Amino acid sequence: MRIQEARIEPFFAEIQASLGSEGINRDPETLRRYGENTMPGGDRSPVGVVYPASTQDAQTIVRAANRHGVPLYPVSTGNNIGLGSRSAVHPGQVIVDLGYRMNRILEVDERLAFAVVEPGVSYQAMYDELVRRGNKLMLDVTSGPPQGGMIGNALDKGAGYTPYFDHFGFACGMEVVLGNGEVLRTGDGALDAGNLINWHTSKYSFGPILDGLFTQSNYGIVTRMGIWLLPRPPAIRSFHFAFPDDDDLEQIIELCRPLKLSNFVPTLFRVCNDLYLCGSEGENPEYRASGGKRSISDEGRRALRESHGVGAWTVSGAFYGPSAEALEPQIKRVRDLFCQSGKARYIAHEEAEGIGPLQVAINTFSGIPSVGELGLLKWRPGGGNTWFLPGTPMDGKIANEFQRVCRKVYEDHGLDYTVMNVCGPRFARGLHVITFNREDEDERRRADDCYRRMSEEVARLGVFVGRAPLDYHEFHMGQAMASFREACSGIKQALDPNGVIAPGRYGIG
Ligand SMILES: Cc1cc2nc3c(=O)[nH]c(=O)nc-3n(C[C@H](O)[C@H](O)[C@H](O)COP(=O)(O)OP(=O)(O)OC[C@H]3O[C@@H](n4cnc5c(N)ncnc54)[C@H](O)[C@@H]3O)c2cc1C
Repeated sequence: MRIQEARIEPFFAEIQASLGSEGINRDPETLRRYGENTMPGGDRSPVGVVYPASTQDAQTIVRAANRHGVPLYPVSTGNNIGLGSRSAVHPGQVIVDLGYRMNRILEVDERLAFAVVEPGVSYQAMYDELVRRGNKLMLDVTSGPPQGGMIGNALDKGAGYTPYFDHFGFACGMEVVLGNGEVLRTGDGALDAGNLINWHTSKYSFGPILDGLFTQSNYGIVTRMGIWLLPRPPAIRSFHFAFPDDDDLEQIIELCRPLKLSNFVPTLFRVCNDLYLCGSEGENPEYRASGGKRSISDEGRRALRESHGVGAWTVSGAFYGPSAEALEPQIKRVRDLFCQSGKARYIAHEEAEGIGPLQVAINTFSGIPSVGELGLLKWRPGGGNTWFLPGTPMDGKIANEFQRVCRKVYEDHGLDYTVMNVCGPRFARGLHVITFNREDEDERRRADDCYRRMSEEVARLGVFVGRAPLDYHEFHMGQAMASFREACSGIKQALDPNGVIAPGRYGIG
């Protein structure tokens, strides 16, 4: 739908009549702030922001958008930093800020260990509530902004680090306002009845699993979701290993895989390169001298590693159990295994607590939101950051090849290779952050080019990205096979025939 055809004023008049003035903001300063992001492609101002207070309000907004041809862009808490923040795909869309007024924790079931939340419930809010209730349950958090939300993150296929790391996988039962304004309940909630008792406990109920349709798409607006929680273990003990050389990644992946395939280690492994850890502790010490034109030198990296007590790669994981003493044999087993390599230096839990970036890892394994990793965004001045998010199979040789390819692309663009491989049994998410000075035209262009080059290189090696910044949604959809693209458009046509919800998101028209 083209914005020129949208009848904006009648749309806002209708919303004003239904939601009142607290339901709309069109103040220029507000529009500027909602358009801000950190990506190379620039900010994108919306034409207004609307604030539903209920599912019925969300239906009202979607129906009015259909009548007046107005493109909407829903956000929950809008902390998608590096991927779009809360700015829309295109300028001129109307932001539907669900989190501002729909921010209630609707239910916490302590016996069955789940919560039901509205879109505005952040990791911090959920954590605070669980602590208030006696800290018996733990949630899986990201290492990103504590004000990020459980629904927005799960819908963008975000993830954490505990056994419940897969935020979509551990979500159960959604309420969705479709593009035609109708409400759909997924899973057991699809039962046409009023007293639903299994909606947020049974994920695979009658019929096709529709929940996945609402991740990384634009087919509906999710207004509530069930989220599964873990019982908080009495003791959490982390372990860490520093490796000296870039090419040690091959051996690290080979060491981690069997420990995850057998589930001996319950958390995922965070395998961070030196800059992913040291980069959150201050600005690149060589930036000013090179004017941002060159990647940090090998000597510069070595000096940072020494001053922060980390390796070229540092591996972190944790065990859960009844007491610290009870976990000692498990820690010893992992330590023996890693130290057989002859290269690993063991960093014990207590020592890691004194190293800022490793404390971030401990927090993630403990379900505690924290801000430490956001320091990465200050590695270069100017606030630019965008995330390149492919993965690799858990095969040491392949992971190392990806490392060499991506490191070279960063260096070719005078940028600093900064990555964390989050390792499960078969697959490692490769979280690459491209930090750049967004005020510097040349650096912005290099960051954009670096992202595109890496996408092409990893596609050539047979891998797709798992999540993408808004700047590249259309580009990545162009990398998909024709029948995938056609299926996505066909579903859009069926669920949102006038294309009012986030047109262009994830490359779906
Ligand atoms: C240093 C750093 C570390 C990070 N670490 C992690 C990490 O460990 N794991 C991780 O997953 N991410 C991480 N991130 C990325 C990101 O910041 C988080 O994923 C954050 O939680 C996403 O923002 P949000 O939860 O506020 O979602 P939102 O911004 O609210 O939503 C994300 C997108 O989903 C769509 N959406 C949101 N709500 C709805 C809805 N109700 N209906 C329909 N569509 C909707 C929208 O298009 C929206 O733009 C990190 C970022 C930084 C900067």
